[in-house]
Amino acid sequence: MKITFLGAAQTVTGSCYVIETPSARFAVDCGMFQGNSAIETRNFETDNYRPESLDFILLTHAHIDHSGLLPRMVKKGFKGSIYCTAPTAELADIMLEDSAHIQEMEHDWKSRHNKRRGEPEEQNAEALYGAEDAEETTKLLRPVDFGKEITPAPGVKVVFRYAGHILGAAILDITVDEDGKSTHLVFSGDLGRPGALLLPDAETPSTPDWLFVESTYGDRDHKGEADTLKELAEAIAYSYSHREKVIIPAFAVERTQEILYSLLILKKQGGIPENMPVYVDSPLASKATQVFMKYMDHLSTPEFTAEDFAATPDGFIRFTQDVKESQELNTMKGPAIILSASGMCNAGRVRHHLRHNLWKPGVSVVFVGYQAMGTPGRKLVDGAKTLRLFGEEVAVAAKIFTINGFSAHAGQSQLLEWIGSMARPGMNIALVHGEPRAQEILAGLIKERFGITPFIPEYLEEATIEGTAAEVRAPSPTRTRPRVDWNFLAGELEQRAAQVRARLARIDDIPWEEQTELRDRLVEIERDLVLFLSRL
Ligand SMILES: [Zn+2]
Ligand SMILES: [Zn+2]
Repeated sequence: MKITFLGAAQTVTGSCYVIETPSARFAVDCGMFQGNSAIETRNFETDNYRPESLDFILLTHAHIDHSGLLPRMVKKGFKGSIYCTAPTAELADIMLEDSAHIQEMEHDWKSRHNKRRGEPEEQNAEALYGAEDAEETTKLLRPVDFGKEITPAPGVKVVFRYAGHILGAAILDITVDEDGKSTHLVFSGDLGRPGALLLPDAETPSTPDWLFVESTYGDRDHKGEADTLKELAEAIAYSYSHREKVIIPAFAVERTQEILYSLLILKKQGGIPENMPVYVDSPLASKATQVFMKYMDHLSTPEFTAEDFAATPDGFIRFTQDVKESQELNTMKGPAIILSASGMCNAGRVRHHLRHNLWKPGVSVVFVGYQAMGTPGRKLVDGAKTLRLFGEEVAVAAKIFTINGFSAHAGQSQLLEWIGSMARPGMNIALVHGEPRAQEILAGLIKERFGITPFIPEYLEEATIEGTAAEVRAPSPTRTRPRVDWNFLAGELEQRAAQVRARLARIDDIPWEEQTELRDRLVEIERDLVLFLSRL
């Protein structure tokens, strides 16, 4: 059988592995690439997936970095079934609808922007996908029970097992029979933290021939849960004392509900001031909370019931109902806690809250999730002094808190423990869904502890697997990492600088008022250059 790594290879987003056996061609996950514009262009490279020839797709969980390209596949000819657990199907339904909306808006915005600048229609003349594609995708979702074996194609058997990552998330336990031999593959999907607030722990399948394991936190452990609640309480107390807001960028699914659950616990313990309301300002998060309440039997929430999540408009937790209510939060005086999406601040309403609050001393911005490289969230966590929002550099005066203990991902020791419970001589390990540094460190530890040297696939790499043996074909580097022509760009810049100097010799021909405008413009360009230099 052949496996092609179409995403989450030496990066955390875009999860997709295409497997070809004699009887079927199928994908495990089909996630969106998220980060900067260079990485996001991969979302449009649909030919790599050949969606029309995929027989079916197995979906580990509803997160967009695992499900976000499904509507694109459907738009481009995929017609098979998408197997996932029942809560995943319901969450994917609302998340893909939301994602389609974002894609359509982004596309409109980009084309308007290009037209205004008199530029020709941009190369991506179409939206990645739209609401109709998302709707068609939802019709293909086939709910499967945890622990029950399905046979989506002859010779392919699949069992979904608890991954403990988000509601509905599964580890895929796959057996492929070809030429009378069977090969056992396990895909961890995203692996949760044991003892997480809302979820049961991840299961351990029997030792596979090939283990494809995520490595998001391959380089570090999380802090304890007790600290986590304390850190959250500290951020709240800090902004309360300044009568300012606490902004919590949070993924709408799981993290928001986990934070709500934590806030309920803190409230019970007296860790939140009386007049500090909590607003959930994300239509998606509000809908997702409904799904969580429906599937309480998949959760472990010893302290509270479904009713605690469902707040009344006057209660401790309030869900904004429309855009007007969301905008009112910007002008509202006094302390409050605002949970809003997206978790990495690259889209959604949280960007408005940042624009209105980031520059105010006394505000807290609390990061409670992973921040991928290139995202605005990562820049803030890394100590950026300004952040570009809606075409404007906004100063960062707010206090930035990073709380690692909420992670929906296993930390380094937890990954090692889970891997160790399966590791036997002869088992192969492929590290996926992680950044290179984390993968390198984890690979070293796996080698040291279990004597297995992990394989770290690259984007578009192909591996032909026969039992425990594999032959790997590396993709051409020009395809995976097109070179940036820095020499050319630097040369252009030098030429422009020389032109500026030459034209300044005739500057007195221009009226003084206009000169002052040009001066301001040049100062702006210079400031941009300084910001650029600080990143080199
Ligand atoms: Zn996930
Ligand atoms: Zn993921």
